[in-house]
Amino acid sequence: MSLSNGRAYLAIPGPSVIPEAVLQTMHMASPNIYEGALHDLTDSLIPDLKALAMTQANVAIYIGNGHAAWEAALANVLSSGDTVLVLATGRFCIGWGEMAQGLGAKVETIDYGAQDPVDLGQVEQVLAADTAGRIKAVLMVHVDTSTGVKNDVAGVRAVMDRVGHPALLMADCIASLGCDRFEMDAWGVDVMVSACQKGLMTPAGISFVWFNDKADAARGDCVTTYWDWRSRINPDVYYQYFDGTAPTHHLFGLRTALDMIKAEGFEAVFARHEKLAQVIWAAFDCWSAAGPMRLNIADPADRSHAVTSVAIGSPHGDRLRKWCEQQCGLTLGIGLGREPADAYFRIGHMGHVNAHMIMGVLGTIDAGLKALEIPHGSGALEAAAQALAQRA
Ligand SMILES: *Cc1c(COP(=O)(O)O)cnc(C)c1O
Repeated sequence: MSLSNGRAYLAIPGPSVIPEAVLQTMHMASPNIYEGALHDLTDSLIPDLKALAMTQANVAIYIGNGHAAWEAALANVLSSGDTVLVLATGRFCIGWGEMAQGLGAKVETIDYGAQDPVDLGQVEQVLAADTAGRIKAVLMVHVDTSTGVKNDVAGVRAVMDRVGHPALLMADCIASLGCDRFEMDAWGVDVMVSACQKGLMTPAGISFVWFNDKADAARGDCVTTYWDWRSRINPDVYYQYFDGTAPTHHLFGLRTALDMIKAEGFEAVFARHEKLAQVIWAAFDCWSAAGPMRLNIADPADRSHAVTSVAIGSPHGDRLRKWCEQQCGLTLGIGLGREPADAYFRIGHMGHVNAHMIMGVLGTIDAGLKALEIPHGSGALEAAAQALAQRA
């Protein structure tokens, strides 16, 4: 017996739920790629992508996932032998650093472990000690999807300015763009990467690199023709040729997704994510009062509004995930970058997610804890309903 038939909910931190409107837009014959609607549509994406990142900087579109944008960003600024400083708060920034190493960079890492945000004091020490200016770029992740931590990007820029360090500040906003507030220009970010399958609610396949003139001027010798961001910001060349066939349907899908975000309003989108995250935290506060379950990031101020990472003890993470999927049609995210992986799970609440979906996730988890006899504090659903009632 299973109660899973019906509409499934993939509550993992990407790919996220794709709105019907995006799917319907994409259900079309291939458009003319030489002229007309596709070019106009691509042109129309650029100002909206800049507005969402709150920047006047350039944005280049790549066909690829977030990893492609990672490599594109690095390849355009690095030379082999350059040093980058990685501020690691989970698996993702470590992965970006490994990619820099693969391009021939020397990687210095400050590892904050898997439960804490970037400590600004430590960044200041390392940058102040680099009087020779070896460090070409500081790599950080705004929201690390493995740990659920949200880092203080503006704070890192403030530290860099205070010690007068000339490095580029590069931020990964793959899990935060369109969910958590991010202000590229006001926060002093030189390069930012994101992808379409998380807050931007589009099937995985296109990604983006925003870069300012300082980053462009820092150009090293790693860049190759395909990853060069310069041709990609030239509409005359790029929108027709796209360095290959245009990702036609993704561009149309993204147009619809951005229209949805604009119609709701950026501030309302951020507020929705914040309130829904608070509803989730209210439930976890109760569950954590007894038994093994803990939110990974203790301080709410350091938590993402788009992904929640949970420790629950081995092998309860896997048991709970399987139960929720097989019995109820709810797929939770696996533990990532943690050992043992089956002691963790994650909830994706990014993009096209509303209150009843979150209440469904919480109710399903509560039922799973009971069915599997995993000890937990009581009152979680009551607390979540209260939190929602106060915020709706
Ligand atoms: C998902 C994600 C990535 C990787 O993106 P892919 O599309 O899977 O390559 C990188 N960084 C962060 C923060 C992410 O959430």
